[in-house]
Amino acid sequence: MKICVIGAGVLGLGIACELSAAGHAVTVVERERPFAGASRRSFAWINANNKFPSSYHSINAEGIRAHAQLQERLAHTRSEDGETWFHVSGGILADFGGERTATYAKRIADAEAEGYPVRRVAAAELRELEPAIAWPEDLDEALLHPSEGYLDNDVLGEVLQAALAQRGVEIRTAEAVRVESGTAAGDSAAGGGTDGAADGVGGAAGLAGGARVHFSDGSSEAFDRIVVAAGAASRELAAASGLSIPMADLSTASERTHSLLGLTQPADVDLRHVFISDRINVRPRHDGRLWVQVPRVEARVAEGESPELLAEVSAVMEEELERLFGVRVPMETVIFSGRSFPEDGLSIIGFLDEAETVYCAVTHSGMTLAALFAQLTAQELAGEESALLADFRPSRFTEGRTAGGRSTSADDAYFIGKQ
Ligand SMILES: Cc1cc2nc3c(=O)[nH]c(=O)nc-3n(C[C@H](O)[C@H](O)[C@H](O)COP(=O)(O)OP(=O)(O)OC[C@H]3O[C@@H](n4cnc5c(N)ncnc54)[C@H](O)[C@@H]3O)c2cc1C
Repeated sequence: MKICVIGAGVLGLGIACELSAAGHAVTVVERERPFAGASRRSFAWINANNKFPSSYHSINAEGIRAHAQLQERLAHTRSEDGETWFHVSGGILADFGGERTATYAKRIADAEAEGYPVRRVAAAELRELEPAIAWPEDLDEALLHPSEGYLDNDVLGEVLQAALAQRGVEIRTAEAVRVESGTAAGDSAAGGGTDGAADGVGGAAGLAGGARVHFSDGSSEAFDRIVVAAGAASRELAAASGLSIPMADLSTASERTHSLLGLTQPADVDLRHVFISDRINVRPRHDGRLWVQVPRVEARVAEGESPELLAEVSAVMEEELERLFGVRVPMETVIFSGRSFPEDGLSIIGFLDEAETVYCAVTHSGMTLAALFAQLTAQELAGEESALLADFRPSRFTEGRTAGGRSTSADDAYFIGKQ
């Protein structure tokens, strides 16, 4: 089939890779540059920690496994020495506050209910596991989630682009302003259009009708299938197309939709795990820098982005880094970052139209889910529906269905590790 993927974030590039590997003729359209959106400014903790309901936990747990498979397949794409970007470092979760006993009991109970690996780690072992941290005397234990890790997202982005280039897939700089659903399977109309654009005729005749992408320069092109993977902007693209992808509106910043993400200068700190706590989240990067979040400043996104805010947050991050490591770690930058966040916090993945020509893949936790969603999108476009995705169909919003089970953490407003 001839397929257009709209958006070159981690989801769009991952999906394009799987589709091209399956032999489809794929074009990626991206209005800025690859990884221009959330995928560039992500903490990229790969985890299924504290994720509800059960079906959402399951896809995130599968997402971790899918990254290992993807890495195995693409490790030699850019270099012969088997470059890696997915690091199963394990995640340490610490509560420095007075609620530690209750926090750990709840997190262990939730993890065990899902069969998600977790264990308590006493102070002496913590010092061995993470000698770079200046563990306070009164912190008697923390939790270790051994299956978790992090993605060097910039490296993954480059590897995906290299894999696509090797397969001759074009990443075209163009803005999609509207998509048009095709006709039902069997009624092939590929190449036909409403505005007389004659380009892009193709696809396997008889497989599907011609869906069409309209671009901001007035041109349009027909495809057998369209995949909308435009992150937060998927909402407007769908609305302009008479479709619905209910994403959170980023025009007003809130803790739900935005985050303040810090990047340090290259640091002489040998951090070995993803470290998540009530004071600071920090994880290593391939170039010696560290990604940082400080929960107590997150609410300040409501003030809106300003150089003053970013400077103040940078100072708070340096303070927390020094408190954690006992040495000064200078910040390089703080990014005021909008999330790609479906209205109910869960993923939206599946066909948007009855004819099944326009597919959508948007989600928060997209770093964790990218490799899995890429595999499953290719599978579903080939006609094989995935039971794993049943709770995350776009139709749930119009049908008033919610995913089964608890949809949020009991302490939803704030919980350790909130991304
Ligand atoms: C601060 C922060 C921390 C995070 N931490 C984690 C974490 O620890 N773990 C985790 O799993 N996830 C995390 N996430 C979420 C994760 O980063 C995102 O879910 C993921 O990057 C979404 O990828 P995407 O490809 O869907 O969207 P994006 O990366 O936003 O890509 C969408 C692309 O589409 C392009 N585009 C938009 N509209 C159009 C159009 N009309 N035409 C053409 N192109 C278009 C954009 O330019 C962009 O390049 C975090 C996100 C943020 C912001």
